[in-house]
Amino acid sequence: MRVTTLSIGDELTHGAILDRHGGWFAGRFDALGCDLVEHRMVGDDRDLIAASIRELAASSDLLVVTGGLGPTADDLTREALADALGESLVLDPEALAALEDRFASRGRVLSESNRRQAHRPEHARSLPNANGTAPGLEARLGDSRIVVLPGPPHEMHPMFESVIASGIEPSADHEATIDINGYGLPESRAAERLGPLLERDRDPLVGIKVSWSILTASVRGTGVEAVARAIERHWHPLAYGRGATTLEEVVGGLLEQQGSTIATAESCTGGLLGGRITEVPGSSGWYGGGVVTYSNECKQQLLGVPAELLERHGAVSEQVAVVMAMEAARRFGADYALSTTGIAGPGGGGEHKPVGTVWIGGCDTTGDHPNAWARRFVFPGDRTWVRDRTVKSALQMLRLHILGFESPLLWEAEQS
Ligand code: ATP
Repeated sequence: MRVTTLSIGDELTHGAILDRHGGWFAGRFDALGCDLVEHRMVGDDRDLIAASIRELAASSDLLVVTGGLGPTADDLTREALADALGESLVLDPEALAALEDRFASRGRVLSESNRRQAHRPEHARSLPNANGTAPGLEARLGDSRIVVLPGPPHEMHPMFESVIASGIEPSADHEATIDINGYGLPESRAAERLGPLLERDRDPLVGIKVSWSILTASVRGTGVEAVARAIERHWHPLAYGRGATTLEEVVGGLLEQQGSTIATAESCTGGLLGGRITEVPGSSGWYGGGVVTYSNECKQQLLGVPAELLERHGAVSEQVAVVMAMEAARRFGADYALSTTGIAGPGGGGEHKPVGTVWIGGCDTTGDHPNAWARRFVFPGDRTWVRDRTVKSALQMLRLHILGFESPLLWEAEQS
């Protein structure tokens, strides 16, 4: 089935918000085995919206339109759909009753502008919206089915599933695209390792992209599973998961399997590592807690890092990273700990410790004796990049340690 999608709103075309519907539709339609041929954005302009609806409907079996169904004067999708269909708007008594009920249940009276939302083009159908005031719309134009859904994702997604996805039976031979994620390998090396798999005339087709230092190989076409496994072997041990899986989820999963816990001691990441960990639902089962010890005084007071060590080696040193990790594990009673200490920049760098120098410490207390170590990195990029790469490297470092794999990581420097 050929599909087109159209997202409406000045906030999209003026850049006030980032369009997230296009990517979401691409993933969902791919999984459903449909061919998304175009995603378009237009501003709040009635004529332009109507023209886009006509054009896109003419080139697809299904057109999904989002946004512009609200009660305000700049919400023009309803009127534009009527224009495209050559119909006028009529009040839909069922949609009006649903709106009145929704308002009454909240102790509010339906305003005139909200009443507008109960209108639909004459031969269109209103679609109930369980999570908002704007009903969706469904109509036919020529051979094309048009479904209009509200803009807010928490309203749009469930309606998409019930109105559109539930009616599409993926064909038996359709294979969903598989994305394999890796971290710690430069893109050029990652591509070299895949060799002929990346040739453009192959089926399945493999493409590589890097986003925020995460490598993703997308495998699309026929026989995707076998090729996905081959990629995981070629990127071993740095491939860590598929699809939307994050490094923190993978580390959490490993800890959960072992029944182990982790603690953190952070300096240059200022809590980012703990923040990333606690984004994983259920992380309270394996993350005890962490400390942010940004100044040398805090490192001494909260973690007992000896003043003499700080003076002799500096805060950004192997020795300090090791003590931070050991003390975090000991003080939080955790099986593992990670520590970070580095120079995120833009100032603070020197000849021997340039901006981007970070020591990441690890501690493992699961054996007979606690084992602590640290690895040195020199990350490129500004403060945001250095801190983000520190967090990802720390998580990958722990993942490799738990799994018993050894591998240098991208931006890892000689120990000095
Ligand atoms: P409402 O009743 O909320 O006005 P609506 O159908 O008119 O619903 P819009 O006004 O177009 O929807 O969008 C409402 C909000 O939904 C936007 O402010 C934005 O936060 C989110 N949104 C809409 N379209 C997109 C999009 N393409 N990508 C990401 N977010 C979007």
